[in-house]
Amino acid sequence: MKFNKVLRDIKIYEAGKPIELVVREYGIAPEDVVKLASNENPIGTSPAAAKAIVANASKAHLYPDDSMFELKAALASKFDVKDDNIIIGAGSDQVLEFISRAVLHEDASVLMSAVTFAMYEIYAKQMGAKIYRTASYEHKYDEFMEAYRMYKPEIIYLCTPNNPTGDATSKEDVLKIINAVDNDTVVVVDGAYMEYASAKDEQYAITPNDLLGFENVIYLGTFSKAYGLGGMRVGYGIGQTELINELYKMRPPFNISTLSLAAAIEACKDEDFVAKSIALHQEQIKRYEAFAEAQGFKYIESYTNFITYLFDENMDSTTIFDALLKRGVIIRNLASYGMNAMRITIGTERQNDVFFKHFSEVIA
Ligand SMILES: *Cc1c(COP(=O)(O)O)cnc(C)c1O
Repeated sequence: MKFNKVLRDIKIYEAGKPIELVVREYGIAPEDVVKLASNENPIGTSPAAAKAIVANASKAHLYPDDSMFELKAALASKFDVKDDNIIIGAGSDQVLEFISRAVLHEDASVLMSAVTFAMYEIYAKQMGAKIYRTASYEHKYDEFMEAYRMYKPEIIYLCTPNNPTGDATSKEDVLKIINAVDNDTVVVVDGAYMEYASAKDEQYAITPNDLLGFENVIYLGTFSKAYGLGGMRVGYGIGQTELINELYKMRPPFNISTLSLAAAIEACKDEDFVAKSIALHQEQIKRYEAFAEAQGFKYIESYTNFITYLFDENMDSTTIFDALLKRGVIIRNLASYGMNAMRITIGTERQNDVFFKHFSEVIA
C-alpha cells in the first residue's frame, strides 16, 4: 500500500494508560487503580452537566444543533466576545487540527518550545510541515524571537500553562511575543489549564479578549480539565471572525455529539463546580510540593492541575513509572520527552494518599 510519505515520520500519540489496561495486565481490582495520568478532573463532572447528559439520552437519535447556538452564547457571555469569534471542536485538539490543516503545507514550518503538547508536532507533521523548537521548555522571548526571525514559521504555539511541564508564561511575555510577530504567522495560545493559572496568579491570567485585537492570534480552551468533561470531547477556539471563518472550512458537520453539546452548555454555566475543583486542587498540590522537598528532589512550580517531578541520576523515571503501574498507580513518564521526570495529575485527597504510600515504598 502507498501511504502518504509524511506518515513515515509520525509516532502514534501515546495517551495516559487507561484503568482497564492495569486491571487486565496486573489483575488489580478497578477500585484499587488510581489514575493520575491524563489531567482529568478528580472530582468528576459538574452535576448539572451530568444531569444534562442523562436528560438528553432520549435525543441520541438526533443530530445536534450544528450551529451550537446555545454553547456559543454561553461562551460568548463568559468571555465577553461575539458568537462569530468562536469555533467549537471535539476537544480543543480538533481545533488544533483545523488550524494545522488551514495554515500548513509541505513548505511550511511551526515553532514551539522544547517540551510542550505532543499534538502540535503530530498535526504539523501530518501536513508535511517542518518542526522547530526553542532550547528551553519555558517560553522565552529571546529564544522565540531568534527562531522566528530565522525560520519565519507559519504557526507559533504558545502553551500556557505548558503541558507536560506545568510552568506558565506571563501575559506580558505572551503579548510581547505576539506584538513582535507579523500577521503572516498564526499564533496559537493554548490555555487548556488557564483556569488554574488565573486562580494562582493574575500575572499569568490570559483571556480570549486580551488577544482579540490581533487578527493572527487564536486562543484555545477546553472543557476537559477544570470543567471535568474529558470524556465528552469539547473544546473551543476564539479569535477574529475572518480567522474563525477559515477554520470553519475544515470542520465536519456535527463535530461534537448531542450529549457533549448538552453537557458543555451546563458545564459552562457552572462556575461553582470549577471553583470547587480549583480549591481542592490548590489544597492538595501543597502536599506534592512538601513531599518533593522532604525527599530532596526538584519539581517545576505548577500553574496547572498536575505537577512535574524532576529526578537526578539516582532516580530513573521509567523504573519508577513501571513500579507504580504494577501497584495500580498510573502517572505519566516524561522519558519520551527526553526528561528524567514524571507528571502527576493532582487527585482527590484519597487518591493522593494512595500515590504517596506507593511512591514512598517504590523510592525507598
Ligand atoms: C488537554 C490538552 C488539550 C486539549 O484537550 P481536549 O481534551 O482535546 O480539549 C490541549 N492542549 C493541552 C496543552 C492540553 O493539555
